[in-house]
Amino acid sequence: MRLRVPPFLKRLYPAAIWNFPNEADSVFLTFDDGPTPEITPWVINKLAEYDAKATFFCLGKNVEQHPEEFTLIRANGHSVGNHSYSHQRGFSMPTGSYVEDVDLADEFIRSNLFRPPYSFITPTQVRVLSERYKIIMWNVLSLDYSNKITNHQCLKQVVGSAHPGAVIVFHDSLKSAKHLKYVLPKALDFFVEKGWKMKAIEY
Ligand SMILES: [Zn+2]
Repeated sequence: MRLRVPPFLKRLYPAAIWNFPNEADSVFLTFDDGPTPEITPWVINKLAEYDAKATFFCLGKNVEQHPEEFTLIRANGHSVGNHSYSHQRGFSMPTGSYVEDVDLADEFIRSNLFRPPYSFITPTQVRVLSERYKIIMWNVLSLDYSNKITNHQCLKQVVGSAHPGAVIVFHDSLKSAKHLKYVLPKALDFFVEKGWKMKAIEY
């Protein structure tokens, strides 16, 4: 199984970043939907064991509820991005309210990186938000949230699709914890074996 980004999506969001093609020896791990007390500290410890840095696209409402875990992310040298306050679908919301939800999250997160929930927002929402945020998409999806695949299939999805410069999506959410605890250490082993560095996205 190999998931690719559909070309129409890239055309729809030309201002967005999907990967870093010039980074010949690095991969960019990203964790969406946290912080979650039950899994985020585990992820941070695991990354530390490998001297890996990552980017956490947090939900404003979760940062509001779990400020200690958010502080832990920053204290460990990872970067953070805005993943909206309440995880709405852009297509089913007027641009004004959608942007308000993102700006509300910014009060807690303070980052100029933004990743849209579900990866879908309207071209107008992209235009408005890209005036203030760098829109970071992805090009390798781990499917760690899926209950239709096994741990091993999830791992194969990550290591089979990863390449230098890739932006890989994981989730530090309860829903993804089962797959993540199996996949992350093995994926990190794989990246180290390849000689790739795991870097945070910085702007
Ligand atoms: Zn999300």
